[in-house]
Amino acid sequence: MPNIIIEAHGLKRHYHRGSETVKALDGVDVSIHSGEIVSVLGPSGSGKTTLINLLSCLDAPTEGTLLVAGKSVAGLAEDELVEVRRGVLGFVFQQFALLPTLTVAENVELPLMFLDRRTDSQKTAEILQTVGLSDRANHLPRELSGGQMQRVAIARALITDPKILVADEPTGNLDTATGQSIIELFKRLAAEQGLAILLTTHNPAFGYEADRAITLQDGKIVREEMPHGERASSHSQDSPGPLDGPPHGSPLFEGALTQ
Ligand code: ADP
Ligand code: MG
Repeated sequence: MPNIIIEAHGLKRHYHRGSETVKALDGVDVSIHSGEIVSVLGPSGSGKTTLINLLSCLDAPTEGTLLVAGKSVAGLAEDELVEVRRGVLGFVFQQFALLPTLTVAENVELPLMFLDRRTDSQKTAEILQTVGLSDRANHLPRELSGGQMQRVAIARALITDPKILVADEPTGNLDTATGQSIIELFKRLAAEQGLAILLTTHNPAFGYEADRAITLQDGKIVREEMPHGERASSHSQDSPGPLDGPPHGSPLFEGALTQ
């Protein structure tokens, strides 16, 4: 059984707006294993960003338990959360958040400088090769396309050797073909490096390429599906389950991976 990287039970995040309580997340159970791609689908306002911010320790739950790499993060102070995130979580921001005056290679190495760790030009080169940007190392962000900028953001998240990559709407600013190429990159990272990938998307076609697709509505999981059957990486032509296109009305598979 693959390692569980993130495990959450009864996760809630309520916001107060005047006298009103917004239940952005209202009791979510989720676990993510190494090598697994999990997508979070749902309409705007359904709680996707809230969920992945909580799972990434960028925000704290109102209620519920959360284990990251086996460690409970409840009640931890900000500097302790940074420690938990380090070496476990790589976060990819939707707007890329690249520094315009730094080259591609310098942007990728930025997290190491924040962590007071040495840069290693060979490692940077390897990661740029992994994301398909070997020939762009010395370019500035403004010289890149949107898809290339997203690859730099992914490379930057990879430089600290995380166990899971978390990406909020990684295809949201990209055209369909470029978005598809980012999904293919995620699949390769999961298959070849055993990385877990957690992403949100508005686009069901991308969401159903994941091993597991979770659909949120009003802060609750209303559907959990495995579009490619039990283990996407090992299924064969005659494996059960729909193989072409999004399944409709599939049964719930909640907890299927945690047995
Ligand atoms: P999604 O990413 O699916 O569009 P969000 O997680 O951003 O949804 O938001 C879920 C709900 O929580 C929405 O109703 C949103 O308005 C509300 N919300 C999110 N962040 C805040 C906040 N900081 N303060 C108050 N309400 C918030
Ligand atoms: Mg969002």
